[in-house]
Amino acid sequence: MNNTMVAARPVDVAKADPVHVDMRGVTQRYRTGRRGDLLALDRVDLQARRGEFVSIVGPSGCGKSTLLYIVAGLLEASDGEVLVDGKKINGPDPQRGLVLQNSSIFPWRTVEENVAFGPLMAGVAASKRRTLTKHYLEMVGLKKFAAFYPRELSGGMKQRIAIAQMLACGPSLFLMDEPFGALDSLSREVLQDQLLQLWERDRKTVLFVTHSIDEAVLLSDRVVVMSPLPGRVKEIVPIDLPRPREEARASQAFGQLRNHIWESIRQETMEAIG
Ligand code: ADP
Repeated sequence: MNNTMVAARPVDVAKADPVHVDMRGVTQRYRTGRRGDLLALDRVDLQARRGEFVSIVGPSGCGKSTLLYIVAGLLEASDGEVLVDGKKINGPDPQRGLVLQNSSIFPWRTVEENVAFGPLMAGVAASKRRTLTKHYLEMVGLKKFAAFYPRELSGGMKQRIAIAQMLACGPSLFLMDEPFGALDSLSREVLQDQLLQLWERDRKTVLFVTHSIDEAVLLSDRVVVMSPLPGRVKEIVPIDLPRPREEARASQAFGQLRNHIWESIRQETMEAIG
Protein backbone atom coordinates (compact mmCIF):
# COMPACT_ATOMS: atom_id res chain seq x y z
CA MET A 1 0.00 0.00 0.00
CA ASN A 2 1.55 3.26 -1.05
CA ASN A 3 0.62 5.76 1.62
CA THR A 4 2.72 8.50 0.09
CA MET A 5 -0.06 9.00 -2.47
CA VAL A 6 -2.45 10.13 0.25
CA ALA A 7 -2.02 13.46 1.94
CA ALA A 8 -2.63 13.05 5.68
CA ARG A 9 -5.19 15.78 5.93
CA PRO A 10 -8.61 15.79 7.50
CA VAL A 11 -11.19 15.00 4.85
CA ASP A 12 -14.29 14.68 6.96
CA VAL A 13 -17.29 16.25 5.37
CA ALA A 14 -18.03 19.64 6.82
CA LYS A 15 -21.61 20.05 7.92
CA ALA A 16 -21.71 23.17 5.80
CA ASP A 17 -21.04 21.32 2.54
CA PRO A 18 -23.98 21.85 0.20
CA VAL A 19 -26.47 19.07 -0.41
CA HIS A 20 -25.52 17.31 -3.63
CA VAL A 21 -28.12 14.56 -3.87
CA ASP A 22 -31.53 14.96 -2.31
CA MET A 23 -33.93 12.00 -2.38
CA ARG A 24 -37.39 13.07 -1.35
CA GLY A 25 -40.09 10.55 -0.61
CA VAL A 26 -38.70 8.15 -3.21
CA THR A 27 -41.19 5.33 -3.65
CA GLN A 28 -41.00 2.41 -6.06
CA ARG A 29 -43.77 -0.06 -6.81
CA TYR A 30 -43.02 -2.99 -9.11
CA ARG A 31 -45.87 -4.68 -10.96
CA THR A 32 -45.66 -8.38 -10.19
CA GLY A 33 -48.72 -9.63 -12.10
CA ARG A 34 -51.34 -11.58 -10.20
CA ARG A 35 -49.56 -11.12 -6.88
CA GLY A 36 -50.24 -7.39 -7.09
CA ASP A 37 -47.71 -4.59 -6.69
CA LEU A 38 -44.54 -4.94 -4.67
CA LEU A 39 -43.58 -1.87 -2.66
CA ALA A 40 -39.80 -1.98 -3.10
CA LEU A 41 -39.15 1.52 -1.70
CA ASP A 42 -41.41 3.44 0.61
CA ARG A 43 -40.91 7.21 0.88
CA VAL A 44 -37.14 7.18 1.17
CA ASP A 45 -35.70 10.53 2.28
CA LEU A 46 -31.93 10.63 2.06
CA GLN A 47 -29.34 13.26 1.35
CA ALA A 48 -25.68 13.18 0.40
CA ARG A 49 -23.57 16.28 0.78
CA ARG A 50 -21.05 17.27 -1.86
CA GLY A 51 -17.90 15.22 -1.36
CA GLU A 52 -19.53 12.80 1.02
CA PHE A 53 -19.07 9.03 0.89
CA VAL A 54 -22.37 7.36 1.74
CA SER A 55 -22.81 3.59 1.77
CA ILE A 56 -26.13 1.79 1.68
CA VAL A 57 -26.40 -1.61 3.36
CA GLY A 58 -29.27 -3.90 4.29
CA PRO A 59 -30.63 -7.40 3.67
CA SER A 60 -31.15 -8.60 0.09
CA GLY A 61 -34.30 -7.19 -1.40
CA CYS A 62 -34.43 -4.01 0.71
CA GLY A 63 -34.25 -1.86 -2.43
CA LYS A 64 -30.61 -0.76 -2.48
CA SER A 65 -30.12 -1.33 -6.21
CA THR A 66 -33.54 0.10 -7.01
CA LEU A 67 -32.63 3.30 -5.17
CA LEU A 68 -29.30 3.59 -6.99
CA TYR A 69 -30.91 3.03 -10.41
CA ILE A 70 -33.43 5.75 -9.64
CA VAL A 71 -30.63 8.21 -8.74
CA ALA A 72 -28.80 7.12 -11.93
CA GLY A 73 -31.94 8.04 -13.87
CA LEU A 74 -32.28 4.53 -15.30
CA LEU A 75 -35.54 3.95 -13.47
CA GLU A 76 -38.27 6.47 -12.87
CA ALA A 77 -39.60 6.40 -9.30
CA SER A 78 -43.32 5.66 -8.90
CA ASP A 79 -43.45 8.58 -6.51
CA GLY A 80 -41.17 11.18 -4.96
CA GLU A 81 -38.23 12.90 -6.59
CA VAL A 82 -34.45 13.08 -6.72
CA LEU A 83 -32.71 16.43 -6.91
CA VAL A 84 -29.06 16.73 -7.88
CA ASP A 85 -27.59 20.15 -7.13
CA GLY A 86 -31.15 21.31 -6.50
CA LYS A 87 -32.45 20.23 -9.92
CA LYS A 88 -34.89 17.41 -10.40
CA ILE A 89 -33.29 14.61 -12.40
CA ASN A 90 -34.81 13.52 -15.64
CA GLY A 91 -33.04 10.42 -17.00
CA PRO A 92 -29.35 9.49 -17.01
CA ASP A 93 -26.56 12.07 -17.15
CA PRO A 94 -22.78 11.68 -17.58
CA GLN A 95 -22.41 13.71 -14.38
CA ARG A 96 -23.77 10.64 -12.58
CA GLY A 97 -21.40 7.72 -13.26
CA LEU A 98 -22.55 4.18 -12.53
CA VAL A 99 -20.39 1.12 -11.80
CA LEU A 100 -22.03 -2.26 -11.28
CA GLN A 101 -20.83 -5.60 -9.89
CA ASN A 102 -20.20 -6.95 -13.38
CA SER A 103 -19.85 -3.78 -15.29
CA SER A 104 -20.61 -3.65 -18.95
CA ILE A 105 -17.26 -3.11 -20.58
CA PHE A 106 -17.09 -3.88 -24.29
CA PRO A 107 -15.36 -7.22 -24.90
CA TRP A 108 -14.44 -6.30 -28.48
CA ARG A 109 -12.69 -3.06 -27.50
CA THR A 110 -9.23 -2.83 -25.97
CA VAL A 111 -8.75 -1.49 -22.45
CA GLU A 112 -7.91 1.99 -23.74
CA GLU A 113 -10.80 2.00 -26.21
CA ASN A 114 -13.14 1.08 -23.38
CA VAL A 115 -11.90 3.95 -21.24
CA ALA A 116 -12.01 6.38 -24.17
CA PHE A 117 -15.58 5.45 -25.06
CA GLY A 118 -17.37 8.01 -22.84
CA PRO A 119 -15.22 10.96 -24.02
CA LEU A 120 -15.68 9.72 -27.64
CA MET A 121 -19.46 9.80 -27.23
CA ALA A 122 -19.17 13.25 -25.65
CA GLY A 123 -17.33 14.51 -28.77
CA VAL A 124 -13.97 15.05 -27.03
CA ALA A 125 -11.16 15.55 -29.59
CA ALA A 126 -8.79 12.62 -30.24
CA SER A 127 -5.69 14.18 -28.64
CA LYS A 128 -7.59 15.14 -25.47
CA ARG A 129 -9.12 11.64 -25.40
CA ARG A 130 -5.67 10.09 -25.48
CA THR A 131 -4.50 12.29 -22.60
CA LEU A 132 -7.60 11.51 -20.54
CA THR A 133 -7.37 7.78 -21.19
CA LYS A 134 -3.69 7.65 -20.26
CA HIS A 135 -4.36 9.60 -17.09
CA TYR A 136 -7.17 7.35 -15.87
CA LEU A 137 -5.45 4.11 -16.86
CA GLU A 138 -2.46 5.24 -14.85
CA MET A 139 -4.71 6.10 -11.93
CA VAL A 140 -6.18 2.59 -11.76
CA GLY A 141 -2.83 0.91 -12.45
CA LEU A 142 -3.64 -0.43 -15.92
CA LYS A 143 -1.30 1.65 -18.06
CA LYS A 144 0.65 -1.40 -19.17
CA PHE A 145 -2.52 -3.13 -20.28
CA ALA A 146 -3.87 -0.39 -22.54
CA ALA A 147 -3.73 -2.56 -25.67
CA PHE A 148 -5.14 -5.69 -24.02
CA TYR A 149 -8.67 -7.01 -24.47
CA PRO A 150 -10.90 -7.54 -21.40
CA ARG A 151 -10.82 -11.35 -21.85
CA GLU A 152 -7.06 -11.25 -21.22
CA LEU A 153 -7.53 -9.65 -17.79
CA SER A 154 -8.64 -10.81 -14.34
CA GLY A 155 -11.99 -9.90 -12.75
CA GLY A 156 -10.33 -7.25 -10.58
CA MET A 157 -8.68 -5.66 -13.59
CA LYS A 158 -12.00 -5.58 -15.47
CA GLN A 159 -13.58 -3.77 -12.56
CA ARG A 160 -10.72 -1.28 -12.68
CA ILE A 161 -11.46 -0.71 -16.39
CA ALA A 162 -15.08 -0.03 -15.45
CA ILE A 163 -13.95 2.46 -12.81
CA ALA A 164 -11.54 4.18 -15.24
CA GLN A 165 -14.34 4.25 -17.83
CA MET A 166 -16.60 6.01 -15.36
CA LEU A 167 -13.85 8.44 -14.25
CA ALA A 168 -13.07 9.38 -17.87
CA CYS A 169 -16.64 10.66 -18.24
CA GLY A 170 -15.83 13.19 -15.48
CA PRO A 171 -18.83 12.57 -13.21
CA SER A 172 -19.30 14.59 -10.04
CA LEU A 173 -21.28 11.76 -8.47
CA PHE A 174 -20.18 8.11 -8.34
CA LEU A 175 -22.96 5.54 -8.07
CA MET A 176 -21.47 2.16 -7.25
CA ASP A 177 -23.55 -1.01 -6.87
CA GLU A 178 -21.49 -3.80 -5.29
CA PRO A 179 -18.53 -2.84 -7.50
CA PHE A 180 -16.19 -5.27 -5.73
CA GLY A 181 -18.81 -7.91 -4.92
CA ALA A 182 -17.57 -10.52 -7.41
CA LEU A 183 -13.90 -10.29 -6.48
CA ASP A 184 -11.67 -12.42 -4.28
CA SER A 185 -10.85 -10.85 -0.92
CA LEU A 186 -7.34 -9.71 -1.86
CA SER A 187 -8.42 -7.94 -5.07
CA ARG A 188 -11.27 -6.46 -3.11
CA GLU A 189 -8.96 -4.96 -0.48
CA VAL A 190 -6.63 -3.57 -3.15
CA LEU A 191 -9.51 -1.90 -4.97
CA GLN A 192 -10.98 -0.58 -1.71
CA ASP A 193 -7.64 1.07 -0.95
CA GLN A 194 -7.41 2.50 -4.48
CA LEU A 195 -10.93 3.88 -4.26
CA LEU A 196 -10.12 5.41 -0.87
CA GLN A 197 -7.02 7.09 -2.28
CA LEU A 198 -8.96 8.38 -5.26
CA TRP A 199 -11.76 9.68 -3.10
CA GLU A 200 -9.46 11.26 -0.52
CA ARG A 201 -7.74 13.12 -3.34
CA ASP A 202 -10.71 14.20 -5.47
CA ARG A 203 -13.56 14.18 -2.93
CA LYS A 204 -16.35 13.27 -5.34
CA THR A 205 -19.71 12.40 -3.87
CA VAL A 206 -20.16 8.63 -3.70
CA LEU A 207 -23.28 6.50 -3.17
CA PHE A 208 -22.03 2.98 -2.60
CA VAL A 209 -24.18 -0.13 -2.28
CA THR A 210 -22.54 -3.10 -0.59
CA HIS A 211 -23.27 -6.34 1.24
CA SER A 212 -20.03 -5.99 3.14
CA ILE A 213 -20.34 -4.16 6.44
CA ASP A 214 -16.56 -3.95 6.76
CA GLU A 215 -16.34 -2.30 3.35
CA ALA A 216 -19.05 0.19 4.27
CA VAL A 217 -17.35 1.14 7.56
CA LEU A 218 -13.93 1.37 5.94
CA LEU A 219 -14.98 3.69 3.14
CA SER A 220 -17.86 5.82 4.35
CA ASP A 221 -18.68 9.04 6.12
CA ARG A 222 -22.14 7.65 6.80
CA VAL A 223 -23.68 4.20 6.47
CA VAL A 224 -27.37 3.98 5.69
CA VAL A 225 -29.03 0.81 6.96
CA MET A 226 -32.17 -0.11 5.04
CA SER A 227 -34.99 -2.43 6.06
CA PRO A 228 -36.85 -4.59 3.54
CA LEU A 229 -40.39 -4.92 2.22
CA PRO A 230 -41.05 -2.13 1.96
CA GLY A 231 -37.55 -0.68 1.60
CA ARG A 232 -37.07 2.10 4.11
CA VAL A 233 -34.20 3.90 5.76
CA LYS A 234 -33.90 2.26 9.16
CA GLU A 235 -30.86 3.99 10.56
CA ILE A 236 -28.03 6.27 9.49
CA VAL A 237 -24.72 5.58 11.22
CA PRO A 238 -22.04 8.31 11.09
CA ILE A 239 -18.55 6.82 10.71
CA ASP A 240 -16.30 9.14 12.64
CA LEU A 241 -13.07 7.17 12.21
CA PRO A 242 -10.08 9.34 11.28
CA ARG A 243 -8.82 9.33 7.68
CA PRO A 244 -6.80 8.08 5.92
CA ARG A 245 -8.53 4.83 6.82
CA GLU A 246 -6.15 2.09 5.70
CA GLU A 247 -4.95 1.53 9.26
CA ALA A 248 -8.45 1.73 10.73
CA ARG A 249 -9.46 -1.86 9.90
CA ALA A 250 -7.78 -3.18 13.05
CA SER A 251 -9.03 -0.53 15.49
CA GLN A 252 -11.49 -1.10 18.32
CA ALA A 253 -13.75 1.71 17.11
CA PHE A 254 -13.98 0.00 13.71
CA GLY A 255 -15.09 -3.23 15.40
CA GLN A 256 -17.73 -1.43 17.45
CA LEU A 257 -19.21 0.27 14.40
CA ARG A 258 -19.19 -2.99 12.46
CA ASN A 259 -20.97 -4.81 15.30
CA HIS A 260 -23.58 -2.09 15.64
CA ILE A 261 -24.44 -2.19 11.92
CA TRP A 262 -24.34 -5.98 11.83
CA GLU A 263 -26.85 -6.17 14.69
CA SER A 264 -29.11 -3.63 13.00
CA ILE A 265 -29.16 -5.66 9.76
CA ARG A 266 -29.53 -8.95 11.61
CA GLN A 267 -32.72 -7.74 13.28
CA GLU A 268 -34.15 -6.84 9.88
CA THR A 269 -33.12 -10.16 8.35
CA MET A 270 -34.67 -12.12 11.24
CA GLU A 271 -37.94 -10.23 10.86
CA ALA A 272 -37.92 -10.70 7.08
CA ILE A 273 -37.47 -14.47 7.30
CA GLY A 274 -40.00 -14.68 10.13
P1 ADP B 1 -31.43 -5.08 -3.13
O1 ADP B 1 -30.54 -4.36 -4.09
O2 ADP B 1 -31.47 -4.45 -1.77
O3 ADP B 1 -31.16 -6.56 -3.04
P2 ADP B 1 -33.49 -4.62 -5.13
O4 ADP B 1 -33.56 -3.17 -5.33
O5 ADP B 1 -32.76 -5.44 -6.14
O6 ADP B 1 -32.95 -4.93 -3.67
O7 ADP B 1 -34.97 -5.20 -5.04
C1 ADP B 1 -35.93 -4.70 -4.11
C2 ADP B 1 -37.20 -5.55 -4.23
O8 ADP B 1 -37.79 -5.28 -5.50
C3 ADP B 1 -36.96 -7.04 -4.19
O9 ADP B 1 -38.05 -7.65 -3.51
C4 ADP B 1 -36.93 -7.45 -5.64
O10 ADP B 1 -37.36 -8.79 -5.81
C5 ADP B 1 -37.93 -6.48 -6.26
N1 ADP B 1 -37.61 -6.15 -7.66
C6 ADP B 1 -36.46 -5.60 -8.11
N2 ADP B 1 -36.52 -5.39 -9.44
C7 ADP B 1 -37.76 -5.81 -9.83
C8 ADP B 1 -38.44 -5.85 -11.08
N3 ADP B 1 -37.87 -5.39 -12.19
N4 ADP B 1 -39.71 -6.36 -11.09
C9 ADP B 1 -40.28 -6.80 -9.97
N5 ADP B 1 -39.71 -6.78 -8.76
C10 ADP B 1 -38.44 -6.30 -8.68
